[in-house]
Amino acid sequence: MSRNRDRELGMFRKITRRDFLNGVVIGAGAAAAESFLPSLVWADAANDVAPQNKPGYYPPALTGLRGSHVGSFEAAHNLRDGNFWKTAGKPEDTGEKYKLVIVGGGISGLAAAYFWRKQKPDARILILDNHDDFGGHAKRNEFSPRSRLLLANGGTWAIESPTPYSKAARGLMDDLGIHPAELAEKCYARDTYKGLGQGVFFDKETFGSDRLVTGAPGEFGNLAPERLAKFVESIPLPEEVRRDILRLEASDQDFFPGLSSDEKKDRLSRISYKKFLLDIVKVDPRVVPLYQKRTHGLFGVGIDAVNALDCWVIFLPGFGGLKLEPGPHPRMGYTARGYAAPKEPYSFHFPDGNASIARMLVRKLIPASTPGSTPEDIVTAKVDYARLDRSDSPVRIRLSSIVVSAHHSGDVSNAKEVVVTYLRNGKLLTARANSVVMACWNMMIPYLCPEFPEKQKEALHYGVKIPLVYTAVAISNWKSFQALGVNRISTPGMYHHEVNLDLPVNIGEYHSPKTPDEPILVRMERMPCLPGLPERDQHRAGRGDLLSTSFEIFERSIRDQLGRVLGPGGFDPARDIDTITVNRWPHGYAYEYNYLFDPEWPVGQSPCEIARKPFGRIAIANSDASAAAYTDTAIDQAHRAISELLASAATS
Ligand SMILES: Cc1cc2nc3c(=O)[nH]c(=O)nc-3n(C[C@H](O)[C@H](O)[C@H](O)COP(=O)(O)OP(=O)(O)OC[C@H]3O[C@@H](n4cnc5c(N)ncnc54)[C@H](O)[C@@H]3O)c2cc1C
Repeated sequence: MSRNRDRELGMFRKITRRDFLNGVVIGAGAAAAESFLPSLVWADAANDVAPQNKPGYYPPALTGLRGSHVGSFEAAHNLRDGNFWKTAGKPEDTGEKYKLVIVGGGISGLAAAYFWRKQKPDARILILDNHDDFGGHAKRNEFSPRSRLLLANGGTWAIESPTPYSKAARGLMDDLGIHPAELAEKCYARDTYKGLGQGVFFDKETFGSDRLVTGAPGEFGNLAPERLAKFVESIPLPEEVRRDILRLEASDQDFFPGLSSDEKKDRLSRISYKKFLLDIVKVDPRVVPLYQKRTHGLFGVGIDAVNALDCWVIFLPGFGGLKLEPGPHPRMGYTARGYAAPKEPYSFHFPDGNASIARMLVRKLIPASTPGSTPEDIVTAKVDYARLDRSDSPVRIRLSSIVVSAHHSGDVSNAKEVVVTYLRNGKLLTARANSVVMACWNMMIPYLCPEFPEKQKEALHYGVKIPLVYTAVAISNWKSFQALGVNRISTPGMYHHEVNLDLPVNIGEYHSPKTPDEPILVRMERMPCLPGLPERDQHRAGRGDLLSTSFEIFERSIRDQLGRVLGPGGFDPARDIDTITVNRWPHGYAYEYNYLFDPEWPVGQSPCEIARKPFGRIAIANSDASAAAYTDTAIDQAHRAISELLASAATS
C-alpha cells in the first residue's frame, strides 16, 4: 500500500504501538516502561530482580503483538532445532526444592496446583511459565480509551464446552464460586445492541465489489424464506450464483434417498463440506468463498478440511431434506460429537474470558496476590505480580521462565527427584522436585524429557496445535455500527474473518459501554491456514504465517478492513482507532482428531492416550492430553495427572 493510503488509514498516528512494539516495551525513555521488559530484552541482567517483582509490572495492560509474545518462545525453537545446548552453558543450582514443580502456568497447570494442594495443603509448589503473564491461553487484555477500563479475553473466550463439565472440573468451578448459568442470567446486558443484527461484508478482491449486506442468516440458524430471499438478492454475485445460494440455504432435497439416517451420517462423515457443496448439492463453485471460513472459529480450518457431518451439527445449510436423526456419531470430531448430544446450559463469558478463572485460581493459591473472594470482584481486582514468587509463600509462580529440561536424578525406577532446568533473565537455573507435572504443550515435552520412551515421544509429537489470532481494537465510539444496523459482521474474504462488537457484560464494578458514543472494543478473528492440505499441514503453514507476520502488517490490514467495512457508517480508522492488541497464538487450540485425515484408533491407542502416560515422577496434564481444546478438558487432565502422581510413590 502507498504512503498516502497509509496516512489515510492512520498508520502514522500515535497509538500505543509507538511505545509497545510487539507487546514488548521498547525505548529507554519511559522510566515505568523498564519494568515490563520480558526475558530476551531484559535490561537488568546485572541485577537479579526479576521484572515481575518490580513496581508497575502489569502485563495485562501491554498492547501490540501479544499472545505468544517476543521473548517467550525463542529458546523453545532453539531446542527444537538442536541449537540450544550448544551455547547454553552450565546451569546454576538455585538450591530450591519443591514437592511439585509444574511446567506451564495455564489453566491446567494452575488447576494441577490446586488439586495437589487440596490433598496436600502444606506442599510447596513452583509453577514455571515462559510468558510474562500467567493463564496460558486464558489471558487478559486491558485497555483504557478515554480513561475507561475495557477488558478483553486475549485467548480463551468463555466457559463453554461441547461436553458437560466433569465432576472434577465442575467441582473446581464450584470451589471457586463460579456458577455460569446464574452469572449469565445476572450479568449479560442483553439489550445493548437492540435493533442491530448480523451482516456479511463482501470484499471486492473475493466477490467483485465492496458491499455490506445486512440481515444475514445467523451463523447458527436460518432466516424466514422472504428475509433470506431479500438477503441473497443483495449479494454482489451473478444471478446464477445467488440462485444456488438460495437453493442451498433453503434445501429440502434428500441427496441420499434409500439410505438410513445412520448410513447418511456415515457418508457425510467421509467427505468435506466443500465436497458436499460441490459434488452432492452441486452448487456453482463461486458459492464456496461465502462458506469457506464458516468453520474457522471452531476448527481453525475451512470447509475443505471439515467433514460435512460436523457441519450439519453446527447448522451449516444443505441438510434440511436429509432428515438426519439428532444425536452424535462415532466419526464426528470431538467438538461436533459433543454439540450433537443434548446438555444443560453451562456457559458464561467473563469480560476477560477465562482469564478470570486463571486469576481466581491464582488468588486461591497465593491469597496475598489478589484482593477479593468472588467471581464478581475478580473482574476488576488488580493482581500484585510482585507477590507471585516469594520465598515465604508455599506456592510460587515464576514468569518468563522457560523450562528446557526435566530429568530424573538417577535411574527413573528409583530416582527420588526430578531436576528441572529453566532459562530466565538470560540465566540457566535448576530447581528440584519430588514430582513434576508437564502442563505445557505435548509437542514440547520430547525436547524437555528425552528420557521418555520413543513410542511416547512420537505420540507427543502427533498433534499440531491450531494457530489463531484474537484481535481487540479499542475504538472511540460505535456510532458507525449503529448507523449500519449491525453488531456482528462476517468478512469471509478478508484478513480477519469476523468483526464484532464486544459482548456486553456488567459484573461487579465492571460496566460495559451502553451508548454508541462511548468507547468500545471491536473483536476480530483470524485463522491462518492453507486450504487444500491435510489439516495438520494447514496448521503448520498457518503457524509459519503467524510467526513471520509483523505487527505493522497486522495493523495495516486491521485499519484497512475496519475502514472499508465501517467507513459507510462514518468510521475513520485514522481518527477512531485508539489501541490495537493482536493476540497471536501460533500454538493455539489443542488438535482434535479429524477422521477425514486421521485413522480411527482403537480405544487406548490414540496418540493422546499414549502420550499422557506418566513416566517415573513426571505426569502429563494440559489440554493436548485430551486432544480437545477446552477449559474443562485442561482441568480434567490436571486432575488425572495429579491423581496418578498421588497414587504412585512419586510423592515421597
Ligand atoms: C484463542 C483461544 C480461544 C479459546 N477459547 C476457548 C473457549 O472459549 N472455551 C474453552 O473452554 N476453551 C477455549 N480455548 C481452549 C482453552 O483455552 C485451552 O484448552 C486451555 O486453556 C488450555 O489450558 P492448558 O493449561 O492446557 O494450556 P495453555 O493455556 O496453553 O497453558 C500452557 C502453558 O505452558 C506454557 N509452556 C509451554 N512450554 C513451556 C515450557 N517449556 N516452559 C514453561 N512454560 C511452558 C505455555 O506457554 C502456556 O503458557 C481457547 C484457546 C485459544 C487459543
